[in-house]
Amino acid sequence: MSFKIALDHIGIATPSLEGADFFKILGLPDQGTEEVPTESVKVGFFQTDNEAMIELLEPTSPESPIAKFMDKRGPGIHHICFRVQGIDELVTVLKDKGVRLINEEPRPGAHNCRVVFIHPKSTGGVLVELSEKAEQ
Ligand code: ZN
Repeated sequence: MSFKIALDHIGIATPSLEGADFFKILGLPDQGTEEVPTESVKVGFFQTDNEAMIELLEPTSPESPIAKFMDKRGPGIHHICFRVQGIDELVTVLKDKGVRLINEEPRPGAHNCRVVFIHPKSTGGVLVELSEKAEQ
């Protein structure tokens, strides 16, 4: 079985979206900000030329997974995200292979996507997000 998988974005934990002027200085188009209540974060997206985006993540509550991540490790790369088609089938395959999922069922994420997170223990050390556009 094969799945279409492309790098969608790199997520960076930051105390404040305003603190990320660097990406504006680069001239990356600002795709706007969005709140994701399920993760207690405000996210800002910047587009790069090969379609992959930079996703900045600012916690909106001390209970946010992003706040907890920064408490432990400071600001920095939090996850990488692959855009997939057939997320439900892929999740089934991953579970069968014993890959450790953080959420077993896809849940709503930014940009009207359904997302699943894979534990860093199963990926070589980085949190991986799988994302599928909800309306496809
Ligand atoms: Zn993300």
